[in-house]
Amino acid sequence: MSSLWLDDVKNNNYDSLCKDIETDICIIGAGILGLTCGYYLSNNGMKVTIIDKNEISTKTTGHTTAKITSQHGLIYKYLIDSQGKSLAKQYLDANEEAIQNIKNVIDKENINCDFEFQDSYVYTTDKNEVEKIKIENDAVNSLRL
Ligand SMILES: Cc1cc2nc3c(=O)[nH]c(=O)nc-3n(C[C@H](O)[C@H](O)[C@H](O)COP(=O)(O)OP(=O)(O)OC[C@H]3O[C@@H](n4cnc5c(N)ncnc54)[C@H](O)[C@@H]3O)c2cc1C
Repeated sequence: MSSLWLDDVKNNNYDSLCKDIETDICIIGAGILGLTCGYYLSNNGMKVTIIDKNEISTKTTGHTTAKITSQHGLIYKYLIDSQGKSLAKQYLDANEEAIQNIKNVIDKENINCDFEFQDSYVYTTDKNEVEKIKIENDAVNSLRL
């Protein structure tokens, strides 16, 4: 299946690394994780080298829907029950902060990528699951108090 993002990418061919080089940090893997780490580290004065055995972001990252959300199914009820409220809140805050960080990078680097904030929905087609979603809603709201 083709990817909207990858179809749109131009000049994704970089030379192979075929000699020894000096670097502060070597990151293996140029998906969103490696590129984000490389971005922050190089902005903090590190000389960063990112290597990938394929073309940049052509693996998992290049095939996502590009939706960024802190709402991951019914995870908050599960996290509260299994790990406690404090960890569940850390998870929520970390994800919200990550979304804001992406927005900050888009603004700072003036990236024209149609980023916009939208509501996030979780839904079911099974009547028996509705109660679980209501409980999840209460769980998330309890973390925002
Ligand atoms: C179908 C699908 C849809 C998704 N949709 C969303 C979404 O809508 N929103 C969202 O936030 N998340 C989504 N996710 C999750 C998100 O896409 C991933 O968590 C994220 O892209 C992972 O990024 P990554 O950099 O860790 O991995 P990758 O993007 O897979 O990057 C890893 C890179 O490492 C390279 N590599 C691997 N091994 C080596 C090696 N030995 N030497 C050199 N290079 C190597 C690979 O070539 C690859 O380029 C989705 C995931 C999937 C599978």
